[in-house]
Amino acid sequence: MTEIPLSARARAITDSITLAITARAQAMKAQGIDVVSLAAGEPDFPSPDEVREAGIRAIREGQTRYTSATGMADVRAAAAAWFRRHYGLPYEAGDVIVTAGAKPALMLALMAVCEDGDRVLLPAPFWASYTDIVKLAGGEPVIVPAVPEQDFIHSGAQIARAARESGAKGIVLNWPNNPSGAVPTREQVEEIVAEAIAAGLWILSDEIYARLVYDGREHYSPARCKGAFGRVLVVNGGTKSHSMTGWRIGFLAGPRAVVDAAGRILSQAMGNACTISQRAVLAVCNETDDSALRERLRAYDERRRFVVGAINRIPGLRLATPHGAFYALIDAREACARLRIDDVQLTERLLADAKVALIPGGPFAIPGFIRLSYAASMKEIEEGVRRIAAYLS
Ligand code: PMP
Ligand code: GLU
Repeated sequence: MTEIPLSARARAITDSITLAITARAQAMKAQGIDVVSLAAGEPDFPSPDEVREAGIRAIREGQTRYTSATGMADVRAAAAAWFRRHYGLPYEAGDVIVTAGAKPALMLALMAVCEDGDRVLLPAPFWASYTDIVKLAGGEPVIVPAVPEQDFIHSGAQIARAARESGAKGIVLNWPNNPSGAVPTREQVEEIVAEAIAAGLWILSDEIYARLVYDGREHYSPARCKGAFGRVLVVNGGTKSHSMTGWRIGFLAGPRAVVDAAGRILSQAMGNACTISQRAVLAVCNETDDSALRERLRAYDERRRFVVGAINRIPGLRLATPHGAFYALIDAREACARLRIDDVQLTERLLADAKVALIPGGPFAIPGFIRLSYAASMKEIEEGVRRIAAYLS
């Protein structure tokens, strides 16, 4: 029992749904219940050897002290070179800061640009944490309804209308998308970004899945679009591509004045990202041989193809082929209607009765859908899909 009242800010925030459901599945496993968890967006592969060795070396060498709050100079330089090499973005070391994961990079970027009450467009579906991160920064999330009938890619006109009607100041874009796996073409990115710029929006581009694309698709950063470089903040890192979820390391890049401001907030509120993790992420930035990454991609691709085929054979479920990240956003509207329940109840029943953990679409602003993460072993995916099929037939 506490007598300390919570702030309005704290009261406005919920637990991360993805982490909460994952924790629930883990707790069931700890009780000896045989749960298949396809909930978390967390690679099942270990961090690459080079990353782990770099971390071990850092500890051995005693690299365990504070660094500059915004990151070690060589890490910032290596990250800038990595942005240039892989994404065609001409950043210099001073345009990049190192953060404890992509999540704090998003938080810092929004804190640096949002005034209290500023509206921020979130094209749905979007990663569930965006609404609360925007609120924490004082902004007001404005959901742009999802367009599953357009393969989840909004037209420029839809974004322009949402900007006009809401009076928004900014927009958060996320391609490849969590949860839909959508990867727009270069033309589609150019069209959306052109409208966002014409509407005077700043753009926060979350590109954490940039290296996970299939079917010959190409990730095209919004910051590369015509006239966009000075209006886009880019979040990226090795979390997903290099299985570094627990290292807590990521990058924020963009116009120097904004990145400097984000760095000042970082220096007062968080301090430097873990020194050992900074040394480890250098192995990602300096990687010259990407054959191991291509091997992981091949495995994700195989799982993706299996999931698309198997889910589409289950009555009441439909799945459009995702082209990036490692999520399948399943249209469960028919199954929900048949059972007279919503997506939240469906995932609750699947967990309680079929012992398979998925995430409901509601928190991603796409009710009626459910998200399956195929960042799990083929064996687990096969078993999870078998349980879903058995439950729904
Ligand atoms: N952005 C998106 C779209 C995500 O799915 C996630 C989940 N990991 C993050 C950011 C956060 O990444 P990190 O673990 O590096 O904070
Ligand atoms: N981003 C991951 C997901 O969507 C989970 C990690 C998190 O929510 O911070 O499942």
